[in-house]
Amino acid sequence: MRFDKRHLLGIEHLKPHEITEILDLADQYVDLNRRQVKHSDALAGLTQINMFFENSTRTQASFEIAGKRLGADVMNMAMQASSIKKGETLIDTALTLNAMHPDLLVVRHPHSGAVDLLAQKVNCAVLNAGDGTHEHPTQALLDALTIRRAKGRLHRLSIAICGDIAHSRVARSNIMLLGKMENRIRLIGPPTLMPAGIADFGVEVFDDMREGLKDVDVVMMLRLQKERMDGGFIPSSREYYHRFGLDADKLSHAKADAIIMHPGPMNRGVEIDGTLADDINRSVIQEQVEMGVAVRMAAMDLLARNLRGGKKEGIYV
Ligand code: ASP
Repeated sequence: MRFDKRHLLGIEHLKPHEITEILDLADQYVDLNRRQVKHSDALAGLTQINMFFENSTRTQASFEIAGKRLGADVMNMAMQASSIKKGETLIDTALTLNAMHPDLLVVRHPHSGAVDLLAQKVNCAVLNAGDGTHEHPTQALLDALTIRRAKGRLHRLSIAICGDIAHSRVARSNIMLLGKMENRIRLIGPPTLMPAGIADFGVEVFDDMREGLKDVDVVMMLRLQKERMDGGFIPSSREYYHRFGLDADKLSHAKADAIIMHPGPMNRGVEIDGTLADDINRSVIQEQVEMGVAVRMAAMDLLARNLRGGKKEGIYV
């Protein structure tokens, strides 16, 4: 069995062995990225286009570095200032790009499902870099790699995902991935920020941090996605921090060696205490960023092997 997908659109479509294959290859890319000369030719001769219809700092930079380290010709399209503004539809933009023969298209879009739609219209491999509140598969994969390296395994862990679950594509992708790998998932947050019917996903739901964090191995904090909220979901940021912000007292209910994660961008003093976020003994937030580049290299490498129609052995050939 091997990874034979044409696109990376969501964790929903991945089997556990495919997740493991991406993570195993990403581990090798972590080593490459720690060398002085960080280069492989896995994507040499291929064209990667990054189309971000929504603002991004780390994800876009991470995909760009990943493509460049693998030798692809990488182009960033500034979609905010593009023909979309002049009224072009997503499909027309896709068809125009398609005619330029890209091999890998990395897409972020504010609407759930837009990336899947685009993937049906182009001939190249499409990677979802976040679509609306739907999925952010490379984020879940990089979180999984971070957890696997910190805890030595990616199964039978107790993992708390805390905060604005309702608006979070990171939470959705993580719930699917961590569930597929047989972990115990606890969601903690105000009921107004929990999606309806979430308990059907095989998770436990809490609205009290101290109770929800009890004995967990991993504490994953999420940003309040105010740009996706229309109306008042929380009384105030101060009140939110008091009840749901991660501080030393609430963390003391987790296991003594529990790690702290955050996908970024982080709002210090809203969902997390700044000192805890910087505590190198507990926080793996910087490792998450490092793992992000490696996971994106692995995902693009595997998709490119399928584009070429054969498995290439080893990553440095
Ligand atoms: N960077 C993540 C995302 O794009 C999380 C966030 O924005 O809060 O979904």
